[in-house]
Amino acid sequence: MIQQILILAILGLTIVHLLAQQTEEFRDQPEPSDGTEPPSPAADHPAPAVVDEPEDDPRDLPWIASWSAADRAARRGQNCLTTYTEAGPDGTTILTTAKSCEAGMPHTRAGDRIIIPDSVPLPARATTIAHELVHIHQRRHLGDWLRFYARAWSFQLSSTPPSGMPASIIGARRSNPDTWYTADDSGEGGPWACWMGRWWPVPVYRDPAAPRLRDATVVWWDSWRATTMTEPPTSWVQFFGEVAQPEHPHEIAACLATSEDSRTTEAGRRLMDWLAARPDAAASFLHPR
Ligand SMILES: [Zn+2]
Repeated sequence: MIQQILILAILGLTIVHLLAQQTEEFRDQPEPSDGTEPPSPAADHPAPAVVDEPEDDPRDLPWIASWSAADRAARRGQNCLTTYTEAGPDGTTILTTAKSCEAGMPHTRAGDRIIIPDSVPLPARATTIAHELVHIHQRRHLGDWLRFYARAWSFQLSSTPPSGMPASIIGARRSNPDTWYTADDSGEGGPWACWMGRWWPVPVYRDPAAPRLRDATVVWWDSWRATTMTEPPTSWVQFFGEVAQPEHPHEIAACLATSEDSRTTEAGRRLMDWLAARPDAAASFLHPR
């Protein structure tokens, strides 16, 4: 009898622990600490330049090579070795990795791969995969998304930061595998986004000297006034609403497309109308309506 009670108690604690774990993608909340986070480098001890780990897929090398010193330091000690591979929806491949991969944040990579660290609890996998399928769609149809961003959202993407942006912002930017890439043929796209030809949201490490992937925030560079804001412009909020990941249109779109409240803002309505006209999107990640 005591053994049965103990087993039930352990099972209960395990379920509570799993449900309590955060499953968000690239957001700025701190990770629940469990003592297994790789140690942060000391400020006077720069990260090694060698990043070609044995487990790296060749398709990831361009992204890895693009990391800044802060990006390398934030990822030092992480393990992205695949522990399980399975076929995902719509021709994708889902790779389960150790929890330290990208600090446990699900993401996509070249070759239609969806990476899900094993810290993501099973009940959260469906919504996580839906979000990542939006990123896969963006990778597959980047030109279409860029045109949508420009025409419907007044967002332009760039592979380089604007002249005038302070080096302190550029050096502190947190690289995101879901936003960094560009189109192979035209070179369009990229991690730098500009709204209304003026405001540039940038995800930055809060402590660039000891960066941690989950300890980041989004700042807004106002290129007209040459100032940095910690909040988005009022007009941006009126148009997009409260978005969990405002750092880049790819993330804004993935959040809105998989939200139950996606039609409560003008930006969301335009996105959902555009996606509804695309059978490839409806089949992949849109809620049945
Ligand atoms: Zn995302």
